[in-house]
Amino acid sequence: MRSLGVLVLAAAMTACGPAASEPSAGGLKVVTTTTVFADMIRQVGGDYVDVTSLVPKNGDVHTFEAKPNDVLAVASAKLLVMNGLGLDDWLERTIRNASAEGTPVVKLAEGLPGVQLLPGDEPGTQNPHLWLDVKYAQLYVDRITAALKRADAGHATWYETQAAAYRTRLDALDGEVRAKIATIPPVDRKLVTFHDALPYYAREYGIAIVGVAVQAPGQDPSAAEIASLIDAIKAAHVKAIFSESQFPTRLVDQLASETGATVVAGLYDDSLGDAPVTTYEALITWDTDQLVKALR
Ligand SMILES: [Zn+2]
Repeated sequence: MRSLGVLVLAAAMTACGPAASEPSAGGLKVVTTTTVFADMIRQVGGDYVDVTSLVPKNGDVHTFEAKPNDVLAVASAKLLVMNGLGLDDWLERTIRNASAEGTPVVKLAEGLPGVQLLPGDEPGTQNPHLWLDVKYAQLYVDRITAALKRADAGHATWYETQAAAYRTRLDALDGEVRAKIATIPPVDRKLVTFHDALPYYAREYGIAIVGVAVQAPGQDPSAAEIASLIDAIKAAHVKAIFSESQFPTRLVDQLASETGATVVAGLYDDSLGDAPVTTYEALITWDTDQLVKALR
């Protein structure tokens, strides 16, 4: 029964065209929630995977609502990859809508060995943005590699080789981030962001997060919250407020005009962007360079 449904859906998908981002033809069909995870999967899988990100570039994963095309993409996937920890739980609803409960689902951020989770925006939740710490991103790569090997055992050796090269590059990237942050005077290593995406990055690389403009994407702060954030920015002499491409800059501009801090509007965290920010590695390099330029 289910396989018939999938066939019908797959046929309908061909008629409707691809979802969110264009998959390359052939290869193991992998559907994931964000362009960042899609890139990680491509780095390990290369031409043997056909990856679709449901949330398009510059889309907001926190408030995303799956459309019929996304349901079709999930229905035809052989492997589903999500973050978990509340970032992209809507995928579980999409999986039910696609009758794809039998498809393997990998949650990249949950139950990772040696990870110290930070609190999320609601009591009892955890912040889901682990991948912005490059060391934790390597754990994502390990999990992606294991899942690809399970789903496509015929290319297991190749996936392992690709993953080993990728891990080596991420080691080098981690070192570069540390070296760049070291050029910021310690007293200036603090920032304010639009949404709370950087706590793992900040903890790993020695930057203090003085405040966050919105508690959760899609929720505007109250006047009292804005006032207390302005006080915190002034008290800590924060030089720059960072906003992200997928969010409006109005609120951040208000904070800047009332505190004298500079707005840096082009930080990337949950989504890749246009060139040069087209890979996870480029995203980390870009963000680090923006931070260093604004804070040094
Ligand atoms: Zn986020």
